[in-house]
Amino acid sequence: MKIATIVGARPQFVKAATVSRAVKELREAGTDIEEFLIHTGQHYDHNMSEVFFKEMEIPAPRYNLGIGACKQGAMTGRMIESIEDVLNREHPDWVLVYGDTNSTLAAAIAAVKMHIPVAHVEAGLRSFNRRMPEEINRILADHSSELLFTPTQSATDRLLVEGIPRKKIHQVGDVMYDATMHYRVKSAENSSIVKMLSLSPKKYVLATIHRAENTDDPHRLREIFAGLDEISKEVTVVLPMHPRTRKALEEAGIHLNGQGNLIIIDPVSYLDMIQLESNAQLIMTDSGGVQKEAFFFQVPCLTLRTETEWVELVTHGYNTLVPLERTAIINAWRMQKYEGINWARPLYGKGNAAHAILDTLLGKKENKPNTESTEEANLLKAHL
Ligand code: UDP
Repeated sequence: MKIATIVGARPQFVKAATVSRAVKELREAGTDIEEFLIHTGQHYDHNMSEVFFKEMEIPAPRYNLGIGACKQGAMTGRMIESIEDVLNREHPDWVLVYGDTNSTLAAAIAAVKMHIPVAHVEAGLRSFNRRMPEEINRILADHSSELLFTPTQSATDRLLVEGIPRKKIHQVGDVMYDATMHYRVKSAENSSIVKMLSLSPKKYVLATIHRAENTDDPHRLREIFAGLDEISKEVTVVLPMHPRTRKALEEAGIHLNGQGNLIIIDPVSYLDMIQLESNAQLIMTDSGGVQKEAFFFQVPCLTLRTETEWVELVTHGYNTLVPLERTAIINAWRMQKYEGINWARPLYGKGNAAHAILDTLLGKKENKPNTESTEEANLLKAHL
């Protein structure tokens, strides 16, 4: 079986790493399975891309499309065209896509139109905010997919509500949990970032901001950074800054007053990030992956967004949504209470999502999309 995996952005490298490692293990055990990677180039800086391949031992991409730094439409269009060329040449049995980026959408569209079945990892997530580019990407990728691998019960339930046939949905847990379990040891052995930044464990806040709905709105961005600036007068705040955020701050002319202890650094590698996360007292973020990692490391999280796809974290009190306004952000920091929380809930599976995904793909080798479409049409007719 031949799998084409499409990656392009930082969270996808983390997710793909675990599945690629599981492919390697299966191959070594004699299974007939081959995977090759297509890197769209959506993220291209060394510390947003290359460092992940090196550190996480992800196989080098067979194709590097070099499509980054352009507008949504141009980026997605160019990716569809280039991915189609690659698929025409390689004829994979499956196209494997991750998450919700433009690379996910482009690959799903290119493949489904060529009648190559698509498998979507991290399917079924919804923010119910259609102004987010990610929300559009997720919905379209899910509805183009033959196999939908959901990380949580709420994601599975959502797909059923949207009319996706149950047999296409496989709740396997979260590949990011697999990644955390695997790399935490290597991180503890190899990363010295906490020491390098002279941080005291459990005495600092880790913050990340990069969502377009925060960076592209100068008022919001100003409020968020005013809040962080203020908090940093009470506690050290470390912020590995995404290139998009740096650019947005410059363009909006936002200057930090520098009176507190706000340590802004370049984006860090995954092994460094794990150390920063697990040693933090609190995490403040608008990242999807970082919200979950906070839970994996039993660190409370304040999410600087109006909604989250990871609803179970909020339901169980691990995570709190904070209004995007300076005073609300400061108050959320001052009023946090997390004593007595039960961190032991297995919300994201058992850490074997990657193998469950590959087992399902191997079992479905002969499953082609056309027969499924007929079945879906009959199901729909029965409901009308
Ligand atoms: N991450 C990292 N270095 C950083 C910031 C984030 O390695 O400086 C990792 C983080 O640990 C998580 C992933 O990148 O595994 C999340 O990616 P991001 O926040 O860019 O995207 P999202 O999860 O919001 O889609």
